[in-house]
Amino acid sequence: MGSYTPNMIRPNSLQALLYGQIRSFTDGQLEWIEKANSSTGEIFAVLAVHGCRNGRLIMNHRRLIPFRPTFSFVVNDVPAYRVCVNDDTNGVEGTHGHRYIPATGGENPHSLSTNFLMIEDRSRPTNAELKAAFEEFANLVNVDLNDGYWVDP
Ligand SMILES: [Zn+2]
Repeated sequence: MGSYTPNMIRPNSLQALLYGQIRSFTDGQLEWIEKANSSTGEIFAVLAVHGCRNGRLIMNHRRLIPFRPTFSFVVNDVPAYRVCVNDDTNGVEGTHGHRYIPATGGENPHSLSTNFLMIEDRSRPTNAELKAAFEEFANLVNVDLNDGYWVDP
């Protein structure tokens, strides 16, 4: 579980960002950065909420464990929300989400058992399944994806 700088997003802004009626949106294409055992795909998001800037949706595709991708919605340089697929954390088993807690900079991990079922544990997901998972994540964090945004890892 991560620990980040506190108060980077105000509580009511975080609420509006993740659950409000006005959605944020992307404009561009995923850019993949190659690392030793993973590729990180990143796309900028225009944020609809006052006081929220530098929005990015980030997917970490791990080549040795491709069934455990992670997704982050980074806002004001902290992960407002992130998801770990087919992984465990601090007593939460399987696919789970982490929500940023402004007051402490900590996170609130919680189960997400009905999301991301397109990526079976111990499987080798296709690019179409990874794309579907990315879209599931974008929808979860209230971000609309533009046409042509997707680039295979
Ligand atoms: Zn996690």
